[in-house]
Amino acid sequence: MPIDAKQPYDGQNIFARILRGELPAKTVMESEHSLAFHDIQPLAPIHVLVIPKGEYVSWDDFTASASEAEICDFVRTIGEVARMTGADTQGYRILSNVGKRGGQEVPHLHVHVFGGQPLGPMLQ
Ligand code: C5P
Repeated sequence: MPIDAKQPYDGQNIFARILRGELPAKTVMESEHSLAFHDIQPLAPIHVLVIPKGEYVSWDDFTASASEAEICDFVRTIGEVARMTGADTQGYRILSNVGKRGGQEVPHLHVHVFGGQPLGPMLQ
């Protein structure tokens, strides 16, 4: 069920539990403020999720409340994941679902990095 992007942060959400080490994840890389791991149900040969370590539900509260260091680290991590996975060599897609109409399922901000195959047009 998609979530409300304006809901308060739920410390029991799956990604919060991954960050605390309570649930496993296949880590691609970790930085001071961000974590990248393989999606458990990949939709492409490369499908990595990048999350900030801070407690943010959506881009709205992230961009309003996060420090410059957190925002910079998050964006850099996305680029680094593209390089580390080889997605950068042939093109890739970054995508973030936000809130009910955006189809966001996990209430912790995340970016999907897709690659490894031709991705075609979106929103058909
Ligand atoms: O953008 P959205 O919220 O729909 O995506 C959540 C993503 O988190 C899904 O692609 C799902 O496969 C992934 N997920 C995961 N590990 C979990 C639970 C969900 O990679 N333990």
